[in-house]
Amino acid sequence: MKFDLAYCLSLNDKLSIYDVRDLNFDETMDFDSTREHFQCPNDACRLAFDAANELGTFNAKNVNYVRTPHFKNLPSTRHVEGCPYVSLKAPASGVDEAETDDSREENFPSELLLTRREYVRKPPSPKVAADGGRDEPPTPSVNRNGEQPGRESAPDKTSVFAHPVECFVSNFDDKDLLKRVPLKIGEHTAPYGSFFKKIEYLQDNKGLIYWGKVKEIKDYTQSFRIDFEKKVWFEKRPYSVNLYLSKKLIDSYRKRKAFLEEIKHAIESGRELYCFFYGVTPELKQVPSKKNPEQTFGVFSANIENLDHFIVREAPGLADK
Ligand SMILES: [Zn+2]
Repeated sequence: MKFDLAYCLSLNDKLSIYDVRDLNFDETMDFDSTREHFQCPNDACRLAFDAANELGTFNAKNVNYVRTPHFKNLPSTRHVEGCPYVSLKAPASGVDEAETDDSREENFPSELLLTRREYVRKPPSPKVAADGGRDEPPTPSVNRNGEQPGRESAPDKTSVFAHPVECFVSNFDDKDLLKRVPLKIGEHTAPYGSFFKKIEYLQDNKGLIYWGKVKEIKDYTQSFRIDFEKKVWFEKRPYSVNLYLSKKLIDSYRKRKAFLEEIKHAIESGRELYCFFYGVTPELKQVPSKKNPEQTFGVFSANIENLDHFIVREAPGLADK
């Protein structure tokens, strides 16, 4: 059983596993999911048990994951009768649940919010009931930007780019599903299947999530350059596509360490990698030739402006399609 959300005790809020990953890698936040306590997102169920009744995480801290991250029941996790999160296929202890049903992301956010979610720590002094009973039930926090009531049953909106990307990657073979489910970013809404645009067709429409297989990543003094394998055809001629990542931008990034680990892995792993990005559209530019600086050649290129909307990752399901 995978959970779309889990209640995080210290933040007194419900988080998706992608929120947890974002927090784990954020060097400006004091957050480590191995020290946090996650519980059933169903309020009635959670409040029926004490704080020791926890959920586990899968791929919460692994920078370069392949299999879909999620929250899961532990062998000791209990739920009240009728809780929608009661696992129908409760694993026998010793069985790795992750082997059985973690193959795809089933919770599609309807919107990618371009403003980052903010978190407020629960005050450090929990109220203890006079009779020595358990802590007062926490009141839902209302002081968060963009928090909407009714966010209970699905992670309707996310501000973590990796979440819609995982939906697309892990469901890539289900074209009907990707055609059916809508995604909104900014003012633009389109089904997942068309919001994600192959890099070679980037001229079709601006403002989409572009993706493609990475040919090479070059490490320069001031920047990294991502070259894509596929070329763009323009006026009957093929042009290379690349992206530049400024090292200055990376140095001031709140997830700098994790990002450099992702890039380092990408350069050294020798694996097939795919790049996803949103927010910029590569455009045809004339750049000087290295061999002969008097000459120029055309290339479709863009500078990444927001590292939150850029991912290089393995995506085995996308190979040869
Ligand atoms: Zn429950």
